[in-house]
Amino acid sequence: MLVKQQNVPTASPRKNFSSRLPRRNEPEQILELQSLAKLGPSTPSRQNIPSRPNNQFRQNNQPRPVQNVQSQPIQTGQPRPAQASQPRQVIQPRQAVSSRQNVQPGQAQVGQARPNVQPRQNNQPRPTQNNQPKLYRPTFVSNTVAPAAVSSGSSLKICPLGGQEEVGRNCTVFEYDNDIIILDMGLQFADEDMPGIDYIVPNVAYLRGKEKNIRGVIFSHGHLDHIGAAPILLEQLGNPPIIGRKLTLAMIKHRQEDYKRGTAKSLKTINIDSISQKLTLGKFQISFFQVEHSIVDAVGVIISTPHGTVIHPGDWTMEEDPLEGQVVGYEHLSQLPSPRILMLESLGVAYSKERVPVKTTQHNLEMLISEAKGRVIIGTFASQLERITHLLAYAEKIGKKVALDGYGMKMNVKIAQELGYIPAHKNTLISIEEVSKYPENKILVICTGAQGESNAVFARIVNGNHHYITIKKSDIVIFSSSVIPGNERSVQKVKDQIYRLSDNVIHSSIMDVHSGGHANAEDIKKILHQIKPDYFLPVYANHYMLVEAKKLALREGFRDEQISVLDNGNIIKFQKDRKPMVLKEKANTDYVMVDGLGIGDVSEIVLRDRRMMADDGMIVVIATIDAKTGSIIGNPDLISRGFVHMKENRDLIEKTRMKVKTIVKDKNPMTAADDDYIKNKIRNEIGQFLFKATERRPMVLPVIIKV
Ligand SMILES: [Zn+2]
Repeated sequence: MLVKQQNVPTASPRKNFSSRLPRRNEPEQILELQSLAKLGPSTPSRQNIPSRPNNQFRQNNQPRPVQNVQSQPIQTGQPRPAQASQPRQVIQPRQAVSSRQNVQPGQAQVGQARPNVQPRQNNQPRPTQNNQPKLYRPTFVSNTVAPAAVSSGSSLKICPLGGQEEVGRNCTVFEYDNDIIILDMGLQFADEDMPGIDYIVPNVAYLRGKEKNIRGVIFSHGHLDHIGAAPILLEQLGNPPIIGRKLTLAMIKHRQEDYKRGTAKSLKTINIDSISQKLTLGKFQISFFQVEHSIVDAVGVIISTPHGTVIHPGDWTMEEDPLEGQVVGYEHLSQLPSPRILMLESLGVAYSKERVPVKTTQHNLEMLISEAKGRVIIGTFASQLERITHLLAYAEKIGKKVALDGYGMKMNVKIAQELGYIPAHKNTLISIEEVSKYPENKILVICTGAQGESNAVFARIVNGNHHYITIKKSDIVIFSSSVIPGNERSVQKVKDQIYRLSDNVIHSSIMDVHSGGHANAEDIKKILHQIKPDYFLPVYANHYMLVEAKKLALREGFRDEQISVLDNGNIIKFQKDRKPMVLKEKANTDYVMVDGLGIGDVSEIVLRDRRMMADDGMIVVIATIDAKTGSIIGNPDLISRGFVHMKENRDLIEKTRMKVKTIVKDKNPMTAADDDYIKNKIRNEIGQFLFKATERRPMVLPVIIKV
């Protein structure tokens, strides 16, 4: 079990729901779920749950006892007896359990509920728009925590270097006088129109010359869009101290080792041992708050300055019924000093659909695993540590073996095990090579590649390139992931291929087998009312999502001047008693592309060449020329790659050859040959000639050999 650092509860304990429920392994439970599924979607009861006052936040001077992080076995109910007499080889869609049916709090499936949480008040009506607290209006009065005296010229400047125009490359710079701190150093995966590029990192040109002012880099959590660029950027910025929770720092260290062996030990790390920890970085006072997200040790950050208190949850969601730990609320943040500046990840603002509760996902996966007559193969994100943790615990409980596959996934699990977040599961975890040693109904494979990535495990299995696994009709193959925008086609392709191989393919449109880690529109509304910010900066999403978040805030009563939608590189300045101002000056946020070992050496020009070759191929023209006279010797050679098949286009090739001869034919044999002139002439004229003949624009690469 992933035990998040929990605050000592001041609330009454959550009722043990399972005591008034049929056990997880009772057949009637399944029947009930099946019949519910037939009824179609019902009004989700989650909507009726009032937001609960949060007891976690303590005032600055009040020390908070913190429980140790321990790993404990997950209590996921009793193992389900094998149901040999009721074979269910092929999963029918009608048996799918939708979150809309089984998230009723009273039906919580996953075993003994946590003792530390308040009972849900089912009968209490949800506050309507009318009785919601009035929206906070800015007063510009500072309830000083005043970490530093306000000098008249000082200001708080915030500059996002990435994450404002895309999903990924999250990185924000905060400046106060001569102090700089940075939040997150994420990478962005390359688009389809960036052939050969591995990923993109934030451009730190803005910080050149200011490296000595960087007091620290805070990491909100261990996902790659938040830590992926760390090894590269930390090196570029003179290795400033890095701040994060245990798992986050461990993942950065591992990435650093992968980047350059032996360098992780030179990282200067500040571990956030407890969520109540505070630290001072120059004139910034830093404190933290708990957030709900799909990876353990995710943390929200509070940056206090005399000019404003920045509240940044990193990535976040609202889980009304978490698998463990308390329900995380954000109301306590409304007590922070004004002006409060909320920088809110708004990735899910366009999702009005209800989020799938984690309990539903876990329950559905458990049901599929326990009833499987063949192997179960689950594709998910390498970073879905919480889900992997729970699946491992469940497999252990019912005596199945689990093989993990995919470099990132195995590494993440290893790191989490070393930190004690995931038990060793010595009798459950097996290597992928050992899969064939066990009966098929005892095998669960969890692997990467559910995004259709061409070199990941799923794709290798599907294409018959996996050494140890070939999909059989009896296997259950589950896509336990959402499709990242841009990957739709690749995912569809893999899905189609798997449908040819297995009779049991499950994905989110059939059954709720994935819960996202991001808030939706409803959650964003709630958090705005909970935190009551004076200023709202939507962040960590594409531009259209940020604009949608602004519109949503306007509908919720915010005024236009309270909201800023920034682009990458914009600098917004906050000064006491003044309106925030977006400066004319902009930081350079041009792409820094990483290709193999090269960082930033692939320019737009290189990329344009790659795109050109990918679109229409290339043709190499090799002409031998007399160095003295400049006249052509013999016939020029042509090589086509990706343009036309030469054998089938002899006529075109011959005409091109003749054309080259006339182009190169020197008008004045008295002067020496001019290479550049000849090359340009070939490039332009052959380019035009081939376009006329084929309406294609291959790259023309002239090679002149002088003899
Ligand atoms: Zn994340």
